[in-house]
Amino acid sequence: MTGSALVEAPRSAAAVQVAALLDQAEARRLAGDYRAGSELARQAAELAGSAGDGDGQARALRSMANQLLRLGEQEAAVAACREAVAVLERRGDEAAICEVLTSLAMPLNELGMHEEALEELARGRQIAQRLGDRNLLYWVHNRTGVVHGSMGNHELSTEYLMRALTMVEGMDAEARFCILNNVGDNAVHQVGKLRAAGVDARAQAMLHDALGYVDEALRLARAAGNPFREAICLDNFGMLRALDGDFEAAERMIDNSRAIAAIHGYRSLESGALQHQARVRLMRGECAAAIEGLLAALDRAMEAGERPMAMEIHRELSEAYELVGDFAAALRHYRAYHGLERAAHNDVAAARARVAVHQFELDNARLEAELARVRSAELEEASVSWQRQATEDSLTGLPNRRGAELRLPEMTGGPLCVAIADVDLFKGVNDRFGHFVGDEVLRRLAAVLRDNVRELDLVARLGGEEFLLGLDGADLADARARCELLRAQVAAYPWDKLEPGLTVTISFGVAAVAPGGDLDDAMARADQRLYEAKRAGRNRVAAG
Ligand code: GH3
Ligand code: MG
Ligand code: MG
Repeated sequence: MTGSALVEAPRSAAAVQVAALLDQAEARRLAGDYRAGSELARQAAELAGSAGDGDGQARALRSMANQLLRLGEQEAAVAACREAVAVLERRGDEAAICEVLTSLAMPLNELGMHEEALEELARGRQIAQRLGDRNLLYWVHNRTGVVHGSMGNHELSTEYLMRALTMVEGMDAEARFCILNNVGDNAVHQVGKLRAAGVDARAQAMLHDALGYVDEALRLARAAGNPFREAICLDNFGMLRALDGDFEAAERMIDNSRAIAAIHGYRSLESGALQHQARVRLMRGECAAAIEGLLAALDRAMEAGERPMAMEIHRELSEAYELVGDFAAALRHYRAYHGLERAAHNDVAAARARVAVHQFELDNARLEAELARVRSAELEEASVSWQRQATEDSLTGLPNRRGAELRLPEMTGGPLCVAIADVDLFKGVNDRFGHFVGDEVLRRLAAVLRDNVRELDLVARLGGEEFLLGLDGADLADARARCELLRAQVAAYPWDKLEPGLTVTISFGVAAVAPGGDLDDAMARADQRLYEAKRAGRNRVAAG
């Protein structure tokens, strides 16, 4: 997010297309059309991925995950979230990672992987706290409450949800709907438990508050025109009404929820509504009708492969048959309930294994990408260092002959002169003071030459004790004068501080490069002049 805000570069065609697809996906999501929305989001994620648009890819994957969740495709939702996290980790976008973790907790929760869901939320909580981000913390608390509720821990769920409720002020309608509805949903479970525990006053207070919350949630859902939210909220509202003793209203609302769910293909909501309808009948004492409804709900749940729901329905059927005195049927459903409970454990284990395999593949891909990145960086480094070695003299750090050959033709700022400088009687320096001192002399000479020409000029080591100068913008007279200056500076250098008795001089041969003329020709003439300077007694400049 910060990246695209800071860099004002024109967006690529792909990025524009990704943004357009994402807008459409989100519009479908807000309208509750999760099938079309998740497909659009998938396309956006794919396009963004191949265009290297990490931000768009992560947002698309999240939108996709949220919608897959509504469609009951939990494992695909987990996969999409995990991929989003991987993309965001590369981008170092912590706030977005936290958001995705709160999304990821939901399909994990639905898969029965409660511990994993809580782990992801704990990681999200750390990020939210570190960033001091209230909105993020709200979502973490909200989702933590939901997971505890699914684990049957409604007391703890209430605590988290109420904490989230106190934080929702100032947030958008979606966040507000979500917490109000969740508090209502949790109350459905909690009120029954409190009554069973004999704390009627608390149960009554909680029921009263929850009815107010879901009433507002329903208004928000309708205002947003989101049928999924309306259906899920009507179901909770209905159950709360039933707990409040208004069975007529309860049945109407739940039936309304079921109808909306059926139209829009929200499968698990539809089975849930059937089950709740039956539960209300049971509460009314209409056991036969309840049993009939539960059997129908059971068929649907089995058909849709919704084992956790089927399990719960078997348990309720067992209780209903027990109420009507049909103990054989009660036992049958009780056994089925236990059979499914065992199977559910296996389901969770299998889902856990599949999710782990997917995570492993993601980690692998990430490691491989990282390895490829490191390798290409190493190659790049090696090639830079190889290039330097090929064009640079290691003793003096000056360009070598090859470097000079590359640089000289580029020096086209008007007149150009070349000069070859050769140390006088250098063999004698080595002989008297040793090769080591000879090397140091070459290094210092290189520095004296480099420090006393202009930035644009070239100083290179041709090899041995020979240097090449390229004097940019200098005619022959200028070049001769500048070489004369260099000669004097070398002669005046305090060499005897390096070694007592050491003196060093150099001779220059200078030649002008004719405009558009041949460099080799100029070099040959400079060499010729150098020979003359040597012959004339050394420590001098010969030009021509
Ligand atoms: P002249 O004034 O005629 O140029 O005499 P000279 O002794 O400098 O010329 P000559 O070409 O006979 O000797 C060059 C010497 O430079 C020979 C070699 O030992 C020395 N030399 C060449 N490269 C290096 C180097 O990298 N380090 C050191 N220490 N000496 C070098
Ligand atoms: Mg020499
Ligand atoms: Mg020489």
